Amino acid sequence: MIFQDPGFTMPELAPELQTLRAEVRAFLKKELAQGSFVPVCNSWMEGFSPEFSRKLAARGWVGMTWPKRYGGQERSFFENFVVNEELLAAGAPVGAHWVGVRQTGPLLLRFGSDRLKDEFLPRLASAEIFFAIGMSEPDAGSDLGQVRTQARRTDGGWVINGRKIWSSGAHRCDHMVVFCRTGDAGGDRRAGFSQIIVDLKSKGVTIRPIIMMNGAHHFNETIFDDVFVPEYRLVGEPGNGWTQVLSELGYERSGPERFLSIFPLLVELVRLAARDPDARKVIALGQLGARLWTLRRMSVAVATLLAAGQSPEVDASLVKDLGTRFERETIEIIRALAPAEWSAGAPSEYEVLMAKALLSAPTFTLRGGTNEILRNIIARSLGLR
Ligand SMILES: Cc1cc2nc3c(=O)[nH]c(=O)nc-3n(C[C@H](O)[C@H](O)[C@H](O)COP(=O)(O)OP(=O)(O)OC[C@H]3O[C@@H](n4cnc5c(N)ncnc54)[C@H](O)[C@@H]3O)c2cc1C
Repeated sequence: MIFQDPGFTMPELAPELQTLRAEVRAFLKKELAQGSFVPVCNSWMEGFSPEFSRKLAARGWVGMTWPKRYGGQERSFFENFVVNEELLAAGAPVGAHWVGVRQTGPLLLRFGSDRLKDEFLPRLASAEIFFAIGMSEPDAGSDLGQVRTQARRTDGGWVINGRKIWSSGAHRCDHMVVFCRTGDAGGDRRAGFSQIIVDLKSKGVTIRPIIMMNGAHHFNETIFDDVFVPEYRLVGEPGNGWTQVLSELGYERSGPERFLSIFPLLVELVRLAARDPDARKVIALGQLGARLWTLRRMSVAVATLLAAGQSPEVDASLVKDLGTRFERETIEIIRALAPAEWSAGAPSEYEVLMAKALLSAPTFTLRGGTNEILRNIIARSLGLR
């Protein structure tokens, strides 16, 4: 684990990245002034705007680390980090492209055939198409070894049957990467799984809404009933799904979205403290700022490992566990410091942000692997399990 290495010093982001940061800030300022979005917490999940994603893509800020031949810009992980943290801090609607670019793009780059890369990566980078993730099932969330969705070989491809749940944005996305069983487990419960790209408009796919407690239609249940998928849409080697999914987790768990989901609320606390600077608010801001800075440096450290082609599952788990706990605690601290009548229709921006953040907060420590599971991973790496 990188954080246990005594010789390790956390990298700082290079000063020249400030130029890029200024560019992103200027873009966001202009967009805000034009009213193209209203800042929200959790904008990488709840802000779904294909139009906004395409504006970012036109500037080369979607899939920016990917090779140019696949629509990328061949820019560094750190440039990508800077763009992402600015977008999240502004509460900009980046949910349409976020998951596909964070996970599906790297998955295809590492394991996909040339045909899959040519077909999907340029359209992901131009925000023309969007991807959903189909891992969880009613009896298989934390333990993906229980996945029952099955793909059976047929002439020229696969026939998929099964049911996925909690599929974020499936009703608005074009494709889903479905984690399913393609072979026998034998004695190894992790064996026999594959990842297959399914066109969500295919015959036999049914997408049913699951409404969240904040009233949003974000989740879905996705049912596959004899869905035919051409052979080449299987990503990597048949049976290699488990290894491939694990490689996605470093990207999924360590990015700035794991501690910046509540940043717009933190900005509101700064405003409140400026208007009414009592000691409790100022102390809280100092403490939250220090934690945020530490998390940011840890996240950058994991980005250096990802950039070097490593799969830092444990380090990423640590960032996500600490980051999502920070997010939930931040909401509670601010709520206690500045009580108000929370409601989505309240007159003040602060009250609306808080109302929405309160209703989204329970998801922070569940999505992408629960904190109990992350701590199991960390404990195992320390030899405690
Ligand atoms: C906002 C959000 C978006 C999501 N988007 C997607 C998506 O797009 N695609 C997708 O496939 N999934 C998605 N999910 C599902 C998510 O990955 C699962 O909710 C998560 O992995 C937990 O699985 P589960 O809900 O089945 O809970 P369970 O696995 O049933 O766990 C229930 C409780 O038991 C605890 N627990 C389980 N096993 C252990 C253990 N071994 N040790 C200790 N405690 C344990 C858990 O920590 C949890 O508290 C999303 C979830 C959320 C909240």
